[in-house]
Amino acid sequence: MPGFYRKKRRKVGPSKNDEKVLRGRQAEAETRAAGTLSSRFPGARALSVRLSIVSPQGVVLDEREVSLGADDPFQIDIDCPGRCGSGNFDFSDFVSEALERREESGQVEASCGEPLYGGGPDLCGCVARCEFSAEFAAS
Ligand SMILES: [Zn+2]
Repeated sequence: MPGFYRKKRRKVGPSKNDEKVLRGRQAEAETRAAGTLSSRFPGARALSVRLSIVSPQGVVLDEREVSLGADDPFQIDIDCPGRCGSGNFDFSDFVSEALERREESGQVEASCGEPLYGGGPDLCGCVARCEFSAEFAAS
């Protein structure tokens, strides 16, 4: 009598590597679609952005400064380093609205609403702060 034989199921769907490549391509396409600082905001010469992320316990998890020149792609986002493992803060919209109004500085805060990695009822709750200052050519 033949023993019970379970056929090994082949994994369907894209492999991990394909997904990674795809994500890379999507990021590239997004960057291209985003345009450069000067093409999006005529007159904008430079932009510097300070991003910092603080955990719900008040620990600074990440802090960085990004400087964009006129020809750099306009994209301002940062991955959440918190316990969610998947959050992402995108400040591009906020900054672009301010630049369209030719504001030279501004700041905003956002908190991560992703659930904690591994489940549970809690949300990540990391708070990201974005501060920018922009330089415009005199018009
Ligand atoms: Zn998070």
